[in-house]
Amino acid sequence: MSIYDLDLSSLEELVTSWDAPAYRAKQIWEGVYQHLYASWDEFTNLPTSLRVRMASEFSVEPLEPVARLESSDGQTQKTAFRLEDGQQIETVAMRYARRVTLCISSQAGCAMGCVFCATGQMGFRRHLSSGEIVAQVLHFARELKLKELKLTNIVVMGMGEPFHNYGNTMQAIDRLNDRAGFGFGARRFTISTVGLPDMIRRFADEKRQVNLAISLHAADDKTRSSMLPVNRKYDLEQVLAACKYYVAQTGRRITFEWALIDGLNDSVEQARALAARLRGLLCHVNAIPLNPTTGYSGKATSRERALLFKNELERAGIPCTVRLRRGIDIAAGCGQLAV
Ligand code: SAH
Ligand code: SF4
Repeated sequence: MSIYDLDLSSLEELVTSWDAPAYRAKQIWEGVYQHLYASWDEFTNLPTSLRVRMASEFSVEPLEPVARLESSDGQTQKTAFRLEDGQQIETVAMRYARRVTLCISSQAGCAMGCVFCATGQMGFRRHLSSGEIVAQVLHFARELKLKELKLTNIVVMGMGEPFHNYGNTMQAIDRLNDRAGFGFGARRFTISTVGLPDMIRRFADEKRQVNLAISLHAADDKTRSSMLPVNRKYDLEQVLAACKYYVAQTGRRITFEWALIDGLNDSVEQARALAARLRGLLCHVNAIPLNPTTGYSGKATSRERALLFKNELERAGIPCTVRLRRGIDIAAGCGQLAV
């Protein structure tokens, strides 16, 4: 187990059960989340006995970096980590001037099997613990600190389906959000889901400030089911009903993601069908030309067709951004993470 698997109250319980005063937990918490210590030796304000005991029970580096790649423009960096049981995950940092967005994983592999996604193509290995999710962030926070940079946004868009690992993902966000610790604002997180309606409703009921993105990719069930097998279980109507519920409950805007694939979902007709489905919903569409993966033969939409798609949506009153592909040369783009 790693120290990142504990929240402050369980840490307090633990140290008091060892007959240490509760404020020691606070000191550990600050060492981990404010000073970003990476070794128990750095916790010099703790008595040696407590430090030794903590070190024997909790690791401070549960992720072993096994490979690190940087894109040719130097702006995107991907790190592969080995977990304590040998599974591997990947985490991606993207720089935009002084802004740094971190894309974290919630599972090793993914059970959803989306055909165009490298993670889906590798299948499901296991859920990540909350600590393994938190540790990805702290690893990069430390690296950035050396460069005098700070994380500005965290997106849960790496490997895995976060709403399939709901509890651990939310616990990780809560832990990183704690003002007495890392203090990363809820509004600076974005969670992306393939669209699991029950979980979208649960998320809505919890009225979190975290941003929500839904992977839509098609405006009719036949096309969507051919891309996202989960659509056979939860069709577009069910997904969009949950989205409407979310907007009604929270008043927050939803982002819909759309990987533009040549000849499949990038026509003006698809844009019209999408606009009809989204009419009246507080939302925004993020379209991104498909990133290549070995297991899928579809091709990215051209820039020109992407702009036609966008224009058609916007004519119908649905705001749309065509995003740039990033980190493709190191397979760090959306849907390219696998081991
Ligand atoms: N499991 C979540 C989050 C991880 S995937 C989800 O599916 O939403 C993050 C985003 O990348 C999703 O919108 C996903 O549909 C998209 N994606 C997957 N493979 C892609 C590819 N090859 N090219 C572009 N986007 C892709
Ligand atoms: Fe899983 Fe998301 Fe990839 Fe689909 S797109 S297989 S849900 S990681």
